[in-house]
Amino acid sequence: MNIKVGKLIYSGKAKDVYETDHSDKVVVKFRDDITAGDGEKKDSLQLKGYYNSIISSKLFEVLEAEGIKTQFIELIKSGEMLSNKLEMIPLEVITRNVAAGSLLRKFPFEDKQVFEPPIIQMDYKNDAFHDPMLNDDISIALNLATKEELDSIREITLKINKTLKEFLANKGINLVDFKIEFGYDKNQNIVLGDEVSPDTCRYWDIETCDVLDKDLFRKGECGVMDAYKKVASMILDP
Ligand code: UDP
Repeated sequence: MNIKVGKLIYSGKAKDVYETDHSDKVVVKFRDDITAGDGEKKDSLQLKGYYNSIISSKLFEVLEAEGIKTQFIELIKSGEMLSNKLEMIPLEVITRNVAAGSLLRKFPFEDKQVFEPPIIQMDYKNDAFHDPMLNDDISIALNLATKEELDSIREITLKINKTLKEFLANKGINLVDFKIEFGYDKNQNIVLGDEVSPDTCRYWDIETCDVLDKDLFRKGECGVMDAYKKVASMILDP
């Protein structure tokens, strides 16, 4: 598709969004910036944007093949994804198949406890309030979504989890947990947006149990980019 990239309309912690000469499409540029702990820990890792863009594109394609609507159209060049423009809903929808991370700091679960069915948690995407956990009544009172929309988000998220978990397991990756975000497209459909990458998911190597995601950066360990590169090669391996 022939697209002219226009003005920067949004700049997040690791991605920039540009308008285009098509009013319903945007270009998402994945930057090399990496942050953790509410943005307190920051760095720039060469090629991270590239790897996250190819990993997210592949996973969006896998989801689309299962009938799940995503904002992804195509990867136009390294690190740059042409996407349908969405009006984003400020919810961080977290799915947990295995207990890890903040869940263990907040609740008395066993480390690596398996959740069947998975836990779905929704946090309010708001840095000033440090992304607090929500329940449906708070989400509705904040006008973030209606009860019906929350139910629909939960249903789509369970399907996304099932699809990604199976796909990744076949590639040797255990999908421990992940965060996704949704938005409304021009027809008011609820559509998966943002990214599905090692920045926003916990991926453990099924054979070695190695961590292959941003937890390496959070914990100050080395080999962060090697892990992202490994995820890319595992999931792109035909
Ligand atoms: N996550 C994210 N952005 C956030 C918070 C969490 O992408 O602002 C992802 C995180 O990478 C993990 C999952 O959501 O895959 C669950 O994160 P958790 O609540 O355990 O928080 P953390 O331990 O990362 O602070």
